[in-house]
Amino acid sequence: MAEPEFVRLVKDTELFKNCTNIVIGKGNVEADILFVGEAPGRNEDLQGLPFVGAAGKNLDKLLDKVGLSLENVYVANILKCRPPENRDPLSSEILAHAPWLVHQIKTMKPKVICSLGNYATKFFLALGNVEGMKKQPGITSVHGKPLEIDFFGLKIKLIPLFHPAAIIYNRNKLTPLWEEDMEIVKREVGL
Ligand code: URA
Repeated sequence: MAEPEFVRLVKDTELFKNCTNIVIGKGNVEADILFVGEAPGRNEDLQGLPFVGAAGKNLDKLLDKVGLSLENVYVANILKCRPPENRDPLSSEILAHAPWLVHQIKTMKPKVICSLGNYATKFFLALGNVEGMKKQPGITSVHGKPLEIDFFGLKIKLIPLFHPAAIIYNRNKLTPLWEEDMEIVKREVGL
């Protein structure tokens, strides 16, 4: 069978040529909640799974705190391959990788998408336009606030959350905010 266009687009990027594994996602594809991070890091690249390093371990802990697990969410990234030295992706790379995420959203049909951290939040708020990301508000002012957006033709209910890696560095302040925000997410999907 021919490869889907969204796979071919990713494989045509330099990021693919330089990575170890394509990182697609993990969790329950039938869940109502989709978490979207930025891009695989070193551990994710080596294992071929998102959020398996320090940020991932914290995400597991944070989910546990609000009585959830990977049974209740699916986790993916905007970028499917690790950028060298974790640099910010180029516009062309985002444009080539986003269709795979759009495909994931279309097949999963989550009730809520939670963008994890500043980068993913600005990406969704700018509707995938990298130049437009600079003008977007930061995560501190939009976390926990549900927002309807039209993303590549898909109607999405976005609820931005702090990134689990950021929470590691500001645990006392950000953990309670994350828990409050997750109560909003849970209410939204009836959990
Ligand atoms: N940070 C992300 O945004 N994604 C990962 O998969 C790991 C860390």
